Amino acid sequence: MSTEKVYPVPAEVASRALIDEAKYKEMYKRSIEDPEGFWAEQANEFMTWFKPFGKVMDYDLKKGHIRFFEGGKTNVSYNCLDRHLETRGDQTAIIFEGDDPNVDAKITYRELHEQVSRLGSAMRDLGIKKGERVCIYMPMIPEAAVAMLACARIGAIHSVVFGGFSPDALKDRIQDSECCAVITADFGKRGGKSVPLRANVDKALASCPSVRNVITVKHVGEEIPWVDGRDVWYHEITAAASADCPPEEMDSEDPLFILYTSGSTGKPKGVLHSTGGYNLFTAITHKYIFDYQEGDVYWCTADVGWVTGHSYIVYGPLTNGATTLMFEGVPSYPDVSRFWQVIDKHQVTIFYTAPTAIRAVMGQGNGPVEKTSRKSLRLLGTVGEPINPEAWEWYYHIVGEERCPIVDTWWQTETGGILITPLPGATALKPGSATLPFFGVNPKVLDTEGKEIDGPCEGILAFDTPWPSMMRTVYGDHDRFISTYFATYPGYYFCGDGCRRDEDGYYWITGRVDDVINVSGHRMGTAEVESALVLHEAVAEAAVVGYPHDIKGQGIYAYVTLMTGVEGTDELKKELNKLVRSEIGPIASLDVIQFAPGLPKTRSGKIMRRILRKIAASEVDALGDTSTLADPSVVSDLIDHCPVLK
Ligand code: ATP
Ligand code: MG
Repeated sequence: MSTEKVYPVPAEVASRALIDEAKYKEMYKRSIEDPEGFWAEQANEFMTWFKPFGKVMDYDLKKGHIRFFEGGKTNVSYNCLDRHLETRGDQTAIIFEGDDPNVDAKITYRELHEQVSRLGSAMRDLGIKKGERVCIYMPMIPEAAVAMLACARIGAIHSVVFGGFSPDALKDRIQDSECCAVITADFGKRGGKSVPLRANVDKALASCPSVRNVITVKHVGEEIPWVDGRDVWYHEITAAASADCPPEEMDSEDPLFILYTSGSTGKPKGVLHSTGGYNLFTAITHKYIFDYQEGDVYWCTADVGWVTGHSYIVYGPLTNGATTLMFEGVPSYPDVSRFWQVIDKHQVTIFYTAPTAIRAVMGQGNGPVEKTSRKSLRLLGTVGEPINPEAWEWYYHIVGEERCPIVDTWWQTETGGILITPLPGATALKPGSATLPFFGVNPKVLDTEGKEIDGPCEGILAFDTPWPSMMRTVYGDHDRFISTYFATYPGYYFCGDGCRRDEDGYYWITGRVDDVINVSGHRMGTAEVESALVLHEAVAEAAVVGYPHDIKGQGIYAYVTLMTGVEGTDELKKELNKLVRSEIGPIASLDVIQFAPGLPKTRSGKIMRRILRKIAASEVDALGDTSTLADPSVVSDLIDHCPVLK
């Protein structure tokens, strides 16, 4: 990027933060030079172990073999609940903010512990055993967290499926891991509309013989069909069950959960995470990256259906005894000020969201933000996609009023927790860069032959040592685990993302490796071109892909969504082209610009570039799996208006 601004750590942030620059450097050095010593210490600081672990770490990446704290016994729900009762039993664990702004609730650690224990007992009463899989298909209500923790308590492996997924997507996931039960709600509520969760479950279960029971939370209260022998009400079984539910003693490497990846790159994989390493890494990253301190009110806007919801709404925060906010609704309901209203209402101090949400609210102008106070905020975060500097600056100046550092956190479902990120008291920020590695994380940059490149460079992001919360396998398919992540560059974990490392050692994620465009021998990341486009005041969002070009090898195809009310003229196309060329260089000349009212996105809000590439390449018959798209009708509109379609 031609404009590279640096925002130093403000002195008052550094002085109150848990980690300053000197401490980061010292701890980072130690974590790389003596990972076993470092992780052993942290595991004893952040968790309670029923039985101490033996070997701290053991791995062979070529075989996809990763083990942490083997032999140690613990239980994640114990770490999240029981051990807090004495010191913070009456402290709020979960603040619930409903879809309807008049609905909210506060749940203390003591109450949460009781609810989890009752559900755990009820599940045991139903015959659910350690190691069995339980599907959770829920709205964003506290019972979703209760369900996850109850599974963890009795050693059942949960598989949370996002409540926006279709019956078909749900069915595939239940079948793949042969779940024995489903925990769901009658209906969900989003943006004022009801989502028929239980009806979807019924459709999915028509072909899922492994499921013995469906546990349904009465949330909205409308009538639902009933299958005798299979169905039970959540409120009835928990009322009848014992509030005493001793946690299962789990080995550190016993599985905790399966989570299917969102599918922006192909058939979903059942990513399996285990107990000890995951618990430690989510806790330590939550504490230091969000600088979580006593009294903070922390809000991560993700859905529990995504890994961000697992690690940074439920497990990390609760292990640390934090107050975590769960929001059922959407940023635009009842109006586009909702995020900021919720922040004021609950005096949120730490706010963590996705670039897609930031761009959506940014597209509505500053008014909806500026009419709220946001004085409680002291830290902002983002995750999910590269954040273009334009959106970063808006988030920083308008939302955070230049008072709140932004932690741009790079990680994946597979990594379990955040790997590359600033620490607010330690790291000078550069808009658009995820900056530096977290403790124990040692990123490498490879060229296309798989050779490590030193110093400032651009290439493929990879890792040759594991961190505690690395995924352990693809559920039921260890060969796929190896072939997807370890076969491309033997000895390395291949994450699929490209990156640039600058002269300060900062990492800039350039998008997925298959999103790198090669124009006449010049390689550029699609994220860079998109960032340039979004600089234009008429542009709300842009997605860029390469497509086959007779002369250049690959040409640049840009799908551009304009701000509300702006018209897409040829004049504007010229302006956009000029802007991109001046930002990146003359080689970055846009061959095709298509104005699009909407872009195809996954349910988690990520642009599905795979589909855009197919359309640009005139391969519309081979779009692949589109079942996880938020709005499939967007695709036919793009096809209808594609200027180069043959
Ligand atoms: P699938 O793997 O099913 O195709 P997905 O990769 O979108 O879906 P996630 O695991 O949720 O599912 O997302 C991880 C990816 O998101 C990363 O590989 C990266 O491409 C992108 N990403 C996440 N955080 C950041 C960030 N801070 N900056 C840049 N990219 C990010
Ligand atoms: Mg991925």
